[in-house]
Amino acid sequence: MANDFIKIRCTNCLVLNRVEASRIDHEPRCGSCKTVLTVPRQPIFARQDAFDRDVSYWPETLVVTFTSNSCVFCRISDPLLSELMVKHPGKLKVLKVDFDHDALLVERFKVMKTPSYLVYKAGEFVIRMDGPFKEKSELAKWIENLISYTSY
Ligand SMILES: [Zn+2]
Repeated sequence: MANDFIKIRCTNCLVLNRVEASRIDHEPRCGSCKTVLTVPRQPIFARQDAFDRDVSYWPETLVVTFTSNSCVFCRISDPLLSELMVKHPGKLKVLKVDFDHDALLVERFKVMKTPSYLVYKAGEFVIRMDGPFKEKSELAKWIENLISYTSY
């Protein structure tokens, strides 16, 4: 991979750090306040009150996925997104929105079906996809293309 650096925002002072990819598991520290920098390894559920901040603070690719327990496609999509986060540490963050319970976010983004995906890069909205991909591999390819797309 061409890019050997990962941007990690310090959770303490919010400074954006550039960390060598090979060092992210070796407790890199913030250049400003020395707090240990960590990258998320698993999707988390979006919180209504923190949603905009979570989106704008993430310096790389962020995928918001609207999922439902009763959706068969989500049972394929959810674990795949988890795998991609592990495969691309620091490059991908996934926020899950519970389609059945988080009415405010569902309404705000006019989501009608699951799974739906909203993609942001460095806090800027890039693209959305409503409804499932035909193949699991298509979803993986779509996300990985967005991760490597860097003209922002
Ligand atoms: Zn810091």
